[in-house]
Amino acid sequence: MAKIGINIATGSLQQAEMIVGIDLGTTNSLIAIIHPESKQPTALREHNTSSLVPSIVHFDPYGNPVVGEEAKKFLETDPQNTIFSAKRLMGKSYKDIKEHSGFFTYKVIDDDTESLVKVQVGDRFFSPIDLSSFILKELKQRAEHILKTPVTKAVITVPAYFNDAQRQATRDAGKLAGLDVMRIINEPTAASLAYGLGLRKDEEKTIAVYDLGGGTFDISILKINSGIFEVLSTNGDTYLGGDDLDRTIVKYWMSEVGITEEELRQNKALSQGLRLRAEEAKKHLSSNDIFSIDWNGETLAITKTKFEELIKPLIGKTIECCTNALADSKLTAKDIDTIVMVGGCTRVPAVKEAVSAFFGKPVNDSVNPDEVVALGAAVQADILAGNNKDFLLLDITPLSLGIETMGGLMDVLIPRNAKIPTKVGRQYTTQKDGQADMRISVFQGERDLVKDNRKLAEFSLKGIPGMPAGLPKVEVSFLINADGILVVKAKELRSGVEQSIEVKPQYGLTDEEVEKMLMDSITHAKGDMQVRALVEARTEGEQILSVTEKFIAKNTSLLSKDELVSTAAAMQALQLALTMEDKDLIHTKIEALNEISRPFAERAMDQAVSGALKGKTITS
Ligand code: AMP
Repeated sequence: MAKIGINIATGSLQQAEMIVGIDLGTTNSLIAIIHPESKQPTALREHNTSSLVPSIVHFDPYGNPVVGEEAKKFLETDPQNTIFSAKRLMGKSYKDIKEHSGFFTYKVIDDDTESLVKVQVGDRFFSPIDLSSFILKELKQRAEHILKTPVTKAVITVPAYFNDAQRQATRDAGKLAGLDVMRIINEPTAASLAYGLGLRKDEEKTIAVYDLGGGTFDISILKINSGIFEVLSTNGDTYLGGDDLDRTIVKYWMSEVGITEEELRQNKALSQGLRLRAEEAKKHLSSNDIFSIDWNGETLAITKTKFEELIKPLIGKTIECCTNALADSKLTAKDIDTIVMVGGCTRVPAVKEAVSAFFGKPVNDSVNPDEVVALGAAVQADILAGNNKDFLLLDITPLSLGIETMGGLMDVLIPRNAKIPTKVGRQYTTQKDGQADMRISVFQGERDLVKDNRKLAEFSLKGIPGMPAGLPKVEVSFLINADGILVVKAKELRSGVEQSIEVKPQYGLTDEEVEKMLMDSITHAKGDMQVRALVEARTEGEQILSVTEKFIAKNTSLLSKDELVSTAAAMQALQLALTMEDKDLIHTKIEALNEISRPFAERAMDQAVSGALKGKTITS
């Protein structure tokens, strides 16, 4: 077996090294690692402080950003310069967020175009990518301070519903913060990993991940099979979360104390102040029956019973989303094996009870719901770092993999973003009579012509027994195993001759190279499609000519003189069309020839000829 060292999947590291896991949340963010000694996923924290870093950026009068608890203090006193929930703006245009623009207390530029939103602070403009990068930079610095070592590589989580643009924006934010983003993974996948789900090769499970965070609610139904996570469905509400629970308390207090909506609108400090006290109350009520404080001479109090009554409709909404998610995945509550709880608000006992009642089983809440996503990201990071050889490397192919077929076309066997491990097989045949060798050239990339893609390997299947063109059945199979190694095998099924090649992940493509290859495929998509159509038409034309020629040589006696003359004319016309750049003309001439030859071809079509008309051929 020939071995060639080429990397087909970026991100598979050979040596052990520290990669951190980052949960870049809407409300809070945090960083986790696998503890070098205990080998347990661990959230990083400074002495006696919380691991959570509020995802808030405050700009001081000189425009310098401050992130985290320090920034949070300014929510009340300096709301215009204090940016929270930047994650909601990731990859969005103003049009996308227009209906929620009242939510933001800072200035989101309203240019009403399709272009990505910017936030204005003083006379400076920041993209959500810039803002997220400030948060990531803060996390990176914290980690470096705690670990006393440079931190340059990270796995970052995103919601399962994030589209490509939003994932790319997250990647870019990482890059801006000086982090090499090894992988972007889905938050529900990370949460499951933190519970050790999906780490056994033979495991098959259906999981519901219920994530009620500060400002968003997500329910994801995942299927795990042999280490591969598949998102069956997602549902949720991007404007439903802890903040809404807080708001019910604020409203309650307003009516109790006598504050009007108008007063609240006019007085940003009052509204933020009440909001923070309400959050405090909500948290307190997760483990107490009553909350009461004095604030500016007023008593703000609420009982757990009252709170539960207030939030009942909100919990009801989340359960409705669960119903929809189940329906979309064509499952029922009984099919769910495990329920994973994520997000600080799942600490609210009424939430846990409602979810458990809906699915009819107890929920998994033993891992800290604020940290569970980051902890899972750390588990994934550790696998990527190669520290845990027992576990599967969860991966997808970053670029399509295929072989060269007639006319230099790329025939994709494994499309990009396919989950690995994976195996695909396809049958090919020979182009010439008696062809003994078949060249298999393996390429990676998104373009239609192999010359524009990256060649990974090439080998010849030798010793195909002499057969007419089209008769040999050569099965080419691509297998990518869990380590990202591609094995390409070619086997002639009639004779059993076979040959294979192993493409080993060693020399990597950088993220930039992968990106460039993807961008090129988009830029050239139209031109590529036209070229492919022309090449395919030519290949078909050539095959028909060759088959007809053979047929006539063998069956001259079956044809009348008129038939011979008209066939020759149609063949000539097709031959001429093949020299031109007009696929439609080629098709017209193919059809004309078919029209003439069909009656007699039907009369005497032999198996070899019909075989040659079927299946794709590979250049010899
Ligand atoms: P996350 O976005 O996952 O960090 O969730 C943060 C949300 O969880 C905020 O709305 C917090 O107020 C809420 N939260 C945190 N701790 C508790 C608690 N003990 N009880 C209820 N809600 C909490």
